[in-house]
Amino acid sequence: MPESLTPELRRLRDETHAFARGTLAPLAADVSANRTRIIDASKATGLFFMTQPRALGGSEASTLAMTVVRDTLASHNLSHLPVFGPGPGVLAGADEPIASRYLAPLIAGEKRGAFGFTEPDDATRPTSGRIDGDMLTVNGQKSYVTGGAQADFVTALVEIDGQGPAMVVIDTDAPGVRTRQVFGSLDGTHHAWFEFDNVQVPAAHIVGKPGEGLPRALRQIGDTRIAFAAQSVGLMRWVLEYLAAHLKAPHRSGMPLGGREGVRLRYADLRIKAYAARSMVYRTARLADDGENTVNEGIACKVFATEAVGEVVDTAIQLVGGKALTVGHPLETLYRRVRAMRLAEGASDVLRLNLARGRLDLEKGRI
Ligand SMILES: Cc1cc2nc3c(=O)[nH]c(=O)nc-3n(C[C@H](O)[C@H](O)[C@H](O)COP(=O)(O)OP(=O)(O)OC[C@H]3O[C@@H](n4cnc5c(N)ncnc54)[C@H](O)[C@@H]3O)c2cc1C
Repeated sequence: MPESLTPELRRLRDETHAFARGTLAPLAADVSANRTRIIDASKATGLFFMTQPRALGGSEASTLAMTVVRDTLASHNLSHLPVFGPGPGVLAGADEPIASRYLAPLIAGEKRGAFGFTEPDDATRPTSGRIDGDMLTVNGQKSYVTGGAQADFVTALVEIDGQGPAMVVIDTDAPGVRTRQVFGSLDGTHHAWFEFDNVQVPAAHIVGKPGEGLPRALRQIGDTRIAFAAQSVGLMRWVLEYLAAHLKAPHRSGMPLGGREGVRLRYADLRIKAYAARSMVYRTARLADDGENTVNEGIACKVFATEAVGEVVDTAIQLVGGKALTVGHPLETLYRRVRAMRLAEGASDVLRLNLARGRLDLEKGRI
């Protein structure tokens, strides 16, 4: 539970609160203009390094510590700020030459990476690779690569002929890599759609061994699912505080809206969901830190928390009324931002099916 934290984690939570309130909140008015100041301030607090491996100068925080910080930042509606440094993602623990060519520069901020997993609907076969001597020839497409247009390299899931899927590091300026489209999504993030046409990649750019790609990709996706869930529970807390202030304020009907039973029932339902989501996310973070397999619990957290935050923001807009839809209103912005989380890192219904498979076919997961 969020309450039973060690003194060290309580201190981390309190320092994050103070940092959010005193330093980040004033910079949040213009995140692009203040990007460097936000990053420098995050480095000074040490938060920046939490996502980075110890071997490369980071503090490699536990899942629970990350959850505490993400929840706390989001409870100030500041979770979209660039507080954390680039993490290793699917390159975690990669050997040479990937370690020094890509991983170290990625962590140092000298190179940008992106993650290529999703295939477009018109793909006739999955992105595939053929090994010939020291080289790998890659053909295929990846369609929704966040940050792809700015990336120096994409780590893509590639089906290696006869050997199974592998994560492969592909330079975005390599001959044969074509950007089919660059687009933005509702939440404000940007993505690229890549085509790979006989791209020549050193076979040494396969991360780990062929056949290990899917578990490696799913580990990265699993970490991000917990991150989304932690962020969602903090955002719910922010919205519920915002909404409480609105419900207690004078209303033109002569009675604060919070005096009306119908409104109170809706508000209570949102609080119940926020409580359930926050409890499950902290429990799952603890299980993960205990070394347990939390694939199914992570799915449960991601589906429940991202759907709950969607409902919380939507209902808050309904109760605040038309002014909440004014462009630039915090609820309007949040509505767009949280919508993407029900698709990114796995669509809710697809994750539901995985969860059912975990129990019905594989005897995995717990309640
Ligand atoms: C903001 C954002 C960032 C993203 N970043 C990345 C990234 O960096 N790298 C990357 O590779 N991808 C990324 N994605 C893509 C994301 O992973 C996919 O959008 C997601 O996995 C869903 O796949 P899809 O869009 O192809 O939809 P589909 O798989 O076509 O699913 C659409 C809907 O169809 C239904 N459905 C699909 N399959 C089934 C099934 N088997 N049974 C029942 N119903 C089903 C579900 O209702 C589902 O919501 C990002 C997406 C978003 C929105």
